[in-house]
Amino acid sequence: MKTEPMKIHYLCPHCRSYLRVWNNIIFTVKSEKGKRQGLILLNPELGNYTYISHPSLKFIEGEKVEFYCPVCFSNLAAKQINENLVKIIMIDEQSHEYDIYFSNIAGQRTTFKIANDNIIERHGKHSSSYVNYFMSKLRENLRE
Ligand SMILES: [Zn+2]
Repeated sequence: MKTEPMKIHYLCPHCRSYLRVWNNIIFTVKSEKGKRQGLILLNPELGNYTYISHPSLKFIEGEKVEFYCPVCFSNLAAKQINENLVKIIMIDEQSHEYDIYFSNIAGQRTTFKIANDNIIERHGKHSSSYVNYFMSKLRENLRE
């Protein structure tokens, strides 16, 4: 069954505010090398890497971009797993909750959908390089 994308919610893991408005997931971002900051609107479809931003917000290929919740301003980096991944929460139409991780390195296409420490979905041409590391990290956290 194809999930109806309009019924999928994305939440900040810190304040649980809804980050999705209409067909965009909204973040405040700050780039490391380019020192640019602003708002970025990501596509809510996993594996779709198109985004909307003001034309002045340009990233240098390979630079790290910090993602912040636009409501509580928490840094969304998944420090427990990998500083180069951002973590948010997804709630689907059956009210199932998942952890979504995506790369915060400009140009790197990596997305993971995780439930109960299992990879449910994996998207992006760069995601394979993360799988082993990611799974061992998740198991490590489980043991703690
Ligand atoms: Zn928040």
